[in-house]
Amino acid sequence: MSDKADVLVIGAGFAGMYAIYRLRHLGLKVVVIEAGSDVGGTWYWNRYPGARCDVPSLEYSFGFSPELEQEWEWPEVFSAQPDILHYANHIADRFDLRRHIKFNTRATAVTYLEHSNQWQVSTDSGVSYCATYCIMATGCLSVPNKPEISGADHFQGETYHTGLWPKHPVDLTGKKVGIIGTGSSAVQAIPELATQAGHLTVFQRTPVYTVPANRKAMNKAVEDEFKSNYRQIRAMQQHNRGGVSTFRPLKSMRPTRRLDDQQAQSNNIKALKPEQRQQRLDQRGLASILGFTDIYNDIEANEIANELFRYNIKQRVRDPQVAEKLLPKTYGLGCKRQVLDRDYYDTFNRDNVLLVDVQENPIAEINETGVQTQTQHYELDVLIYATGFDAMTGALLNANITGRAGQTLAEKWQYGPVAYLGLQMHGFPNLFTVTGPGSPSVLCNMLVAIEQHINWIADCIVYLRDNQISSIEPNKNSELTWIDHVNDVAKETMFTAPTCNSWYLGANIQGKPRIFMPYVGGFPQYRERCEQEQEQHYPSFTLA
Ligand code: NAP
Repeated sequence: MSDKADVLVIGAGFAGMYAIYRLRHLGLKVVVIEAGSDVGGTWYWNRYPGARCDVPSLEYSFGFSPELEQEWEWPEVFSAQPDILHYANHIADRFDLRRHIKFNTRATAVTYLEHSNQWQVSTDSGVSYCATYCIMATGCLSVPNKPEISGADHFQGETYHTGLWPKHPVDLTGKKVGIIGTGSSAVQAIPELATQAGHLTVFQRTPVYTVPANRKAMNKAVEDEFKSNYRQIRAMQQHNRGGVSTFRPLKSMRPTRRLDDQQAQSNNIKALKPEQRQQRLDQRGLASILGFTDIYNDIEANEIANELFRYNIKQRVRDPQVAEKLLPKTYGLGCKRQVLDRDYYDTFNRDNVLLVDVQENPIAEINETGVQTQTQHYELDVLIYATGFDAMTGALLNANITGRAGQTLAEKWQYGPVAYLGLQMHGFPNLFTVTGPGSPSVLCNMLVAIEQHINWIADCIVYLRDNQISSIEPNKNSELTWIDHVNDVAKETMFTAPTCNSWYLGANIQGKPRIFMPYVGGFPQYRERCEQEQEQHYPSFTLA
């Protein structure tokens, strides 16, 4: 069976939902294919205890509808997963989006039909769909990585992955729980799991640098001020590298000042004496280390900050041996995405929490009753994988995309992702990726990045339609030049420091080409480049 549309969208997360809203207004027939049973993407799948966003909710929200902005109320400054999922559902209901979505349906192949200039999406429901345009709104962190550990299938207890957490409640009361991983997801989950479980064993391979998250409830006056200034805030987001405004509510209480020379100097960790650095930490907390600007481009400054961080972890964790294991020593601040926590280090002071360093004592196998390291067996009722994702490229490659002349995306990307502006690939006409590799993507406020990409794609489709152009794809040279630029800007940062192994680089997946995937040059610069392409009628693309 086959169905026709103007635009096929894969994924009903925030990107897929906004695509429906935006494209429907253009009179286009939009069909969205979604593997889950409802909307929400990341926030649908990541229901693990403690899941929460690290961007303030008043900013991690859509700006396309002033009415939506005004009516929605966030309970906390940094909202938890249930509230963000609630917001996604509200959007689906308010804008009547669900009727465009085929839920519980996974795209199994995405194929360009050259003779008809159509994209065909085959699905596991048996129905295939055809359309002129196809938008991959598949998310950047949507393919969970489950490491292959010998014997894992033999484990008789319950097994979960943080990125595929079930909808039904998981009762951990009195149970012996183990968690593998100490990245962002684990750091959020561990304090919650420790309070729910009888006993928690944390299998840590690489310690993190994590700083306490802002845990404030929403202040009504702040919310009101945001809501009164939303147009200005959305404009400010467009001019900020990370897509987050520099708007400071309750201005009368917190005047905005320009930094004078002395203050600017104090933002360099090297300019301060050791006692001044510690004093600053004591006064402003651990997160204040992140405010030193020189630590992101000066290895020496970076190591001063790392050492200060380690010193402060030692102050927090009572058992010196446990504290020692928690110290990140093999890489520096700024290499990985900054992790935020609620009581992470304090959790290791609890009697029911055990930290196992699997770097020192590797996991040998998982058996029927638990995890066996080289020296010890840890009996478990529940094993949780918090082992991350095949980031940025995983979902695109899993979709089995085949472009012109039978070239697959896997072939094209065998040495790493090559795309222009993270929006399109040469050889794949009329196929668009949302927040794809080579765009600011995961380094930007995701909702701002999504809106910008969907708007660009929608405007592009309008241009093609109005000018009777049947297809668009970037020139080969444009994408190669762009990827060189993406790599060049990354080279100047701690993200690609020699000691750094992160999912940004694909380093967490065995065999994955090592290339820095997101664009670190900043959202405004990137957006201007996208706008230039449109203003100049797509000079870096071939329009057929
Ligand atoms: P992650 O950062 O990739 O962390 C995965 C963890 O699993 C790491 O500690 C890793 O250790 C460990 N691991 C992987 N394979 C292992 C193995 N075979 N044996 C032992 N340990 C293993 O994944 P994540 O925590 O899910 O976070 C991914 C991204 O999602 C974040 O960086 C962030 O962008 C996003 N996220 C955001 C939030 C938030 O908004 N606050 C929350 C959760 C996630 P190694 O480091 O040694 O590889």
